[in-house]
Amino acid sequence: MKAMVLRQIVRMEDGFPPLELGEVPVPEPGPGDILVRVTACGICHTELDEIEGRTPPPRLPVIPGHQAVGRVERSGPGASLFKPGDAVGVAWIHSACGRCAYCLSERENLCPDFRATGRDVDGGYAEYMTVPEAYALPLPAGFKDVEAAPLLCAGAIGYRSLRLAGLRDGQRLGLTGFGASGHLVLKLARHEFTKSEIYVFARSERQRAFALELGARWAGATEDAPPEKLEAVIDTTPAWKPVVEALRHLAPGGRLVINAIRKEGTDREALLGLDYPSHLWMEKEVKSVANVTRRDVREFLAKAAAISLRPEVETYTLAEANVALAELKLGRTRGAKVLKIA
Ligand SMILES: [Zn+2]
Ligand SMILES: [Zn+2]
Repeated sequence: MKAMVLRQIVRMEDGFPPLELGEVPVPEPGPGDILVRVTACGICHTELDEIEGRTPPPRLPVIPGHQAVGRVERSGPGASLFKPGDAVGVAWIHSACGRCAYCLSERENLCPDFRATGRDVDGGYAEYMTVPEAYALPLPAGFKDVEAAPLLCAGAIGYRSLRLAGLRDGQRLGLTGFGASGHLVLKLARHEFTKSEIYVFARSERQRAFALELGARWAGATEDAPPEKLEAVIDTTPAWKPVVEALRHLAPGGRLVINAIRKEGTDREALLGLDYPSHLWMEKEVKSVANVTRRDVREFLAKAAAISLRPEVETYTLAEANVALAELKLGRTRGAKVLKIA
């Protein structure tokens, strides 16, 4: 089968294509696994964190990709939940231990044995992949495969972020960074919090125009001041400056939720600008989001289906994954980037 393979950690700015189009054997589903024929796989900023070594795969080579949509090809020994042809999604959560205090309290995202699709095991930048059937997500009808793919991470972790933000209807929500996840959170929040105004901070003029088109009340650059203080802000940027700026714009008691697996660290000095009275005092809170649970993904897919939430997608062939990643690195996005594999 064809796959885009990560063989070594590289720096995107060095300009070498990070992934190699290769011919590799179709994986064999082990006990409890299913083999999935992948039709689409979303591209996530976390792939850049893997490629550049901020959250490095424990072994190389590895096939990245954790927003995979496809059809069940066949089941391994003992697997019986799905039948061939069923539409399934594979998200970032490949497996967790199922026994620890986190797993037993609906926080499998925090499990010390959390294994991630496309980092700890091969993912969906390929024609086929395997997944434990208990971690494959049945897909609701009504979505094209390329539309369903970004719901699995950008959407699901956006949903988790919005929940953790603790917003009440009518309170103002800020989004700093406006890529795949930001645009889905905006769409979801417009449905869930109909009285809330949404304020978007984005580095490119194109993303700001896109945010306004989707119903944002206001859109500005990272360092612009919004006309009102915000009760919650969700940060999806790889940088520190947006974090410090967002804290400044929080209302008393407001919460900043950082949805990023790693920060790039190139603007770490921005943290020295942190001023306790204006950025943190008045009971402002900062919280990160880590991984997703299966329940997050299931709940979000059901909501997305119920409200006909459609991501805006830019599609690429499997072989064009490097082009898509390079554009993502430069912030050239409008919605979500997705590989159309079959
Ligand atoms: Zn992701
Ligand atoms: Zn566990």
